[in-house]
Formats: sequence, structure tokens, C-alpha cells
Amino acid sequence: MENCIFCKIIRKETKTDILYENNNILAFRDINPQAPVHILLIPKTHISTLNDLTGEERELIGDLILNASRLAEQEGIAKEGYRTGFNCNEAGGQTVYHIHLHLLGGRKLGWPPG
Ligand code: 5GP
Ligand code: ZN
Repeated sequence: MENCIFCKIIRKETKTDILYENNNILAFRDINPQAPVHILLIPKTHISTLNDLTGEERELIGDLILNASRLAEQEGIAKEGYRTGFNCNEAGGQTVYHIHLHLLGGRKLGWPPG
């Protein structure tokens, strides 16, 4: 995906602080953090929204969630608590159309989100 900002990060075309990487996923800090810890975990394959999942991505999605919990531990927020979430399409607050799992923590998070 030529113009996708997250695909550019995957191709290392933009300078990004990468926290974790394996063959399938990448994790880096959000450029506009909404909490003291705000990390994004993305698949290395371009999938636009959660609606585009086919059923072939179970392991990939599991990898994102498992590594979110590992990063929470690494960032020292595992015990106090944190939030993970995927936004889907406009009403869900999605602005970048390459699926990403948000990991937020380091402060008391309100519920429900605005
Ligand atoms: P969404 O609103 O789609 O769920 O989340 C997209 C997130 O990507 C936002 O929190 C936004 O701050 C972040 N973001 C957008 N562009 C960039 C970028 O170039 N680098 C990084 N690190 N984060 C970005
Ligand atoms: Zn992409």
C-alpha cells in the first residue's frame, strides 16, 4: 500500500521509535499520545479495517494482543491496568486505515470513551 502511513513505517521510510518487531507485527509509540503510555501494534500486512478480516488472521490478531500485554509489562503498567482497542471506521474513531491495536495506560482511563 503505497500511501499508507503505517505501511511506510513498516518499510522504514519514516523515522519511528520501534519497540517490538517480529515477522508479522510491529509496535511503536503513537505520535500523538493520549496517555503517558500510548503504543500502536500493527500487522505487517495491510488490512484496512476490522471489517476486512477474512478469518485467516486469527494467529496474527492473537500476536497483537499477546504482545500488547507483554509491552504493558515492559512499560510498567501491567499491574495498575491499561486498555487495548481497535477503532473501526468513522464512528469508531478510526483515522488511519491500516488496522492497529491501541495500548493505553499510565493514567486512570475513563469509561465509556468519548
Ligand atoms: P485511529 O484514530 O485510526 O484509531 O488511530 C490512529 C493513531 O495513529 C492516532 O492515535 C495517531 O496519533 C497515530 N498516528 C497517525 N500517524 C502517525 C505516524 O505517522 N506515526 C505514529 N507513530 N503514529 C501516528
Ligand atoms: Zn498499510
